[in-house]
Parts: sequence; structure tokens; C-alpha cells
Amino acid sequence: MLFTQLATAQVADIAVPTESEFSFNEMTYSPSQTQFKLFAPANAKSVVVRIYNDGMGGKPVKTIKMQLTGTQLWTATVKGDWNGKYYTFDMGHGETPGVFAKAVGVNGKRGAILQTNGNDEAWDKMRPVIKNPVDLVVYEMHHRDFSIARPEAKYPGKYLALTERWAINHLKELGVNAVHILPSYDYGSVDETRLDKPQYNWGYDPVNYNVPEGGYSTNPYDPACRINEFKQMVEALHKENIAVILDVVYNHTYDIDHSNFQRTYPDYYYRKNADNTYSNGSGCGNETASERPMMRRFMIESVKYWATEYHIDGFRFDLMGVHDIETMNCIRKALDEIDPTIFIYGEGWSAGGCGIPNEKLGMKANIPQMPGIAAFSDDIRDALRGPFSDDRKCGWLGGSYNNKETESLKAGIAGMIAHPQIDYSKVNYSNKPYALEPTQMMSYVSCHDDMCLVDRLKASIPGITEEELIRLDLLAQTAVLTSQGVPFILCGEELLRDKKGVHNSYESPDSINQLDWQNKLRYPQVFQYYQGLIQLRKLHPAFRLGNADLVRKHLEFLDAPEGVVAYRLKNYAGRDSWRNIIVVLNSSRQEQEIAVPNADYTVNCANGVITLRSRGLERFTGNKVKVAPQSALIMHDSQAPLRIYD
Ligand code: CA
Repeated sequence: MLFTQLATAQVADIAVPTESEFSFNEMTYSPSQTQFKLFAPANAKSVVVRIYNDGMGGKPVKTIKMQLTGTQLWTATVKGDWNGKYYTFDMGHGETPGVFAKAVGVNGKRGAILQTNGNDEAWDKMRPVIKNPVDLVVYEMHHRDFSIARPEAKYPGKYLALTERWAINHLKELGVNAVHILPSYDYGSVDETRLDKPQYNWGYDPVNYNVPEGGYSTNPYDPACRINEFKQMVEALHKENIAVILDVVYNHTYDIDHSNFQRTYPDYYYRKNADNTYSNGSGCGNETASERPMMRRFMIESVKYWATEYHIDGFRFDLMGVHDIETMNCIRKALDEIDPTIFIYGEGWSAGGCGIPNEKLGMKANIPQMPGIAAFSDDIRDALRGPFSDDRKCGWLGGSYNNKETESLKAGIAGMIAHPQIDYSKVNYSNKPYALEPTQMMSYVSCHDDMCLVDRLKASIPGITEEELIRLDLLAQTAVLTSQGVPFILCGEELLRDKKGVHNSYESPDSINQLDWQNKLRYPQVFQYYQGLIQLRKLHPAFRLGNADLVRKHLEFLDAPEGVVAYRLKNYAGRDSWRNIIVVLNSSRQEQEIAVPNADYTVNCANGVITLRSRGLERFTGNKVKVAPQSALIMHDSQAPLRIYD
């Protein structure tokens, strides 16, 4: 036991190559020679590179012994032009394309020697301009969910589907300006040699972190194909000013023994417990060790590569709570040097105890130590729909009105910042404001995880009618999209999607996960309402002040009866064209009345209908307003010629 502990400690503390010696360029091609470099133990018996004609099968056409040429750094150079060939490294633990392959053959088993074009300047100019993260409306999408059942899709389930007119039109019509794609790096759970069969997986089982997944390309055997098609997708979205956000899963690998990390440097990249077993903060059997210099550098180089080579506009860190704070801050800094508007957010939790203490981890409670990084607010999510631990329990939407739900909803509306009218001791999972700025909070009620909103409402509110379901769905998203945080919706919620009650659909068939596009015609009111909410947010800066002091200055909660949360955005908040905006959210089954300052009001949203016409839905003068059951009301008092105040 003592011996193995010592061995682990040594792995963690080994000297590593300097950044100038090695920055994870494991393969450098030129027409006259190809050079290989690998970070692998200095005491390895042998490290070889094998070159193959194909991405799978066949015998090596050349085997080269690598030489130890630096600190744990092995090198080999092979003369001649090897463009179009494939390679693996082998240091005695099984063949691997290395940890930083940028092109691979089918199923990512071998690296591909490929001359890449590098950056195209014309591309850079097209990166969407996002002044402040609160200006984003994030749409979380799985490629197959979105396009597999779309009748006119030419490339259903592929990257290229997002270059098609129907797809772009839908996104533009809805108004979202950022597409967050579920894992699209090369993952293992879809067999790329069997794409003739429908296969579905979310893809949280990374194989090659720096190569697009082959299953979403039209030809996974051609290493250039997935790269080019991924870039075409980004380019098509950028042309429409839609940002592309990548879901990155550095916190774990599918398993240890077969992972590229383990096969190049055993035990270096994983955290261990004191008894020498692997720590499992990811809940997937392992967790990576971001605090170790080479894992940290790996993550930094990886995000930099996606940001520069593929022009990715944002990163969503899976289980960010497994990574250490310092690494997350290093990543923020590295991305700032490329473009400070690149957005970072993550899940501020882990799925089990981690190998380093919580106070050092990228947990939600530590967000104040990570400026420029946001975390999902499970507080507002569960306040609205009910706790993650029990699908049958409802939240505020279903009529559960204890202090926690109401206060958490208020905190979510304010962007999870300190606010004099919010008592954080009553907030769901945060006993103090976790965000220093509202830009550090992701506002949402549903994502790919857990039940989607429709299923959750059905499961938690027995006997719910379709009418009520729609009313509560729209009410929920009103809270999300008028929040001062960064709004986030799951793809298909605007079509009232369901997943037939499946809670964890990570490998469910298309029949569960696919969008039913008929719903767009079946429930036009739903789509129009989502559209209206997004437009409202975009046209009215009061809903996205982007600064904690401004939120505290302009956002005031109003007295409201049980089941109602009401607030005012006062005095031309954010230089809005509306003077005072009143938002009332009523989840009760009764009409409710609340007192408001006496004024001439124009109502723009009521009873499940939203309009941005200047005459609104109706106008009235008074100091009270009635709000229909299970619905939101939004109105303002700026009829008169406008004066702009700060
Ligand atoms: Ca794959």
C-alpha cells in the first residue's frame, strides 16, 4: 500500500516538458517529413509509432522507435511525404492516436496525417458580436434530435443539417442567437462503421477531444470530411450571426484502460484516492486531474484549438465542479487573449466526491472566484419544475409555494446576485448569492438532462390538462427569458416537445429524442409565444442589464399573494424605451390581483399571448392589475414621448 501511494504521488509530481518543448503538437506534417512527439514516461521500455495505410485494419507499413529527447518527451521523425496515412503510438499499454490528434480515421482509433489549411482570415470576421453574455439566447441541441425527423432535411442528423435553409430559418424565426451543441468531439458510443443503422447517444464518452465526431459527418472514413463539414456548419451559423457553443467533457473518459490518456501516460491524468483506487467525481468511474500541469495545459490547448481552428464562440463545461478553480481561470485567460467575448459556463457541481477538496473546485459556490465564468442555476430550475431528485414532485409551477421556491425564483430573476429583497437563506441550493454579476448565472428550466419540461409537468402535476400544460410551459419560459441571467432553452421546447416520459434519454432511440416538427403547426401559440419572449428580451435591455449594480438599482420586487411573483424594472432600466416595466408571474389556478403604481399601462403579454406592437394587447389606467391563472403579465407605462435616463 505504501509503495503504491508513493508511486501515485510520484506520477503527480513528475517533471514535465516546458511549453516551448511541447504544446501537444503530437504530429507535425510537412511534405518532406513528419515529426511525432509524445508526453510519455521517461522510464517506458519502448515507445513506437506505427504508420498504416488505412484508418482501421491492415498491418503497419512502418514502425519507428521513438527516442527520449526531453523531460518525459519522446520524439521520432520520419522522412518523406506521409500525407493521407494513419498513425498510432504504443508505449506498451495498447495503441492510441495520442491525446491530441487533430484528425483521425474511422472510430478515432488512429491519428491521420493530414495537411490542414490553418485559419482562414475571412472566417474570423464573421464571428458573431456578443457584447455581453446576457445578450445571448442559448439553444441547446443534439444534432439528431433537431434534424433526424425533419422531412426536407438533406442531411438528417449531420453537421450539414445546420447549413440547410429550413434549419437556419427555424433558428432565425425563433430568434435564438447561440446554438449549444451537445458533445461533438469524437466520442465512442456510436460505431462509425455502422452508420447505416440508426444509433443514438448524447456523446458524453470522449475519445478524441480535438476532432469532430465522425458519426455526424457524411463520411467518417475520410479524416478531412468531418473537419470540413464541422467548419461548414460553424460558417453557416456565423453568417446568420448565430454563435456556436461546444459542450466539452474534460472531466472524465469512458473508461481508464482504453483511454488515450492512460495509454500514453498511465495514471498521470486521473485522480486517485488515498487507497490507490481511482476517484470518481464524475460518476462515470473516473475523474481527470485538471490541477496537474499537463492536464491543465491539455485543457487550455484544447479550448484554444477549438476557438482558433473552428471559431467556437463558447464552451459549456460538463461537471465543471470536477475541475479546479485555477484551471478554469487559466482557461478564461487563454480565451480572453483570443477573444474576450468567448463565453464560458458550466455545471457547477460534480457527480460524486472528488480527489481534491470542494473549496478548490469549480463548484457553483466558488463562482465568485471565477470572474467571467457562469454556472447553471439549479436553484431557479428546481424552484420552477421541482427537485432533480424526484420527477413526481412539482415546484412553483405546480403549486408548491414554500419559501424556498418563491425565494429561489426571485433570486433567479435577479441573476443570482445579492439583492436587498432576496433572502438567500431560503434559496434552494445556495445559501448566499453565488453570482457577483448576473452574467455568471445560466437561467433555465430544462436541458438535455432529466425530463424535458412537458414530461416533467405531466409527471409532477397529476391530471394536468393540455391547456394547463401549455399555460405553465409558457409561464416557465417567461421566468427564464426575463431573468437577468443568461437564458438557455432546450431545443424543441418551442415545439412543446416531449420524450415520452423518459428521464435519461442518453441512448434512447430517435423515436424518443427526435423533434416532432408537426408540433409547430399543431401548437402555433406555443411557438409564437417563445418567439415573442425572445424578441421582447432582445428589444428591451431592461431584461438584460448585465451588471449587478444596475440590477439592484432598477429591479424591485412587488408585494404579491401566494403563487405570484411580481417585479418592476423601473426608470428606463438599461436605457430601455419603456419607462417602468411590470412583470407578474402567476402559477396559481386562480386569477390574481396585485397592486401596482398608479399609471397608464400598455399590456404586451397576458394570458399566454405576447405582442410587441406599440399599442399592445390592451391599455388601461389604474393601480391594480388582474393576472389570469397560470400565466404571465408584462406591461409598461411609457405612452408619453420618451426621455432616456440612465
Ligand atoms: Ca466517434
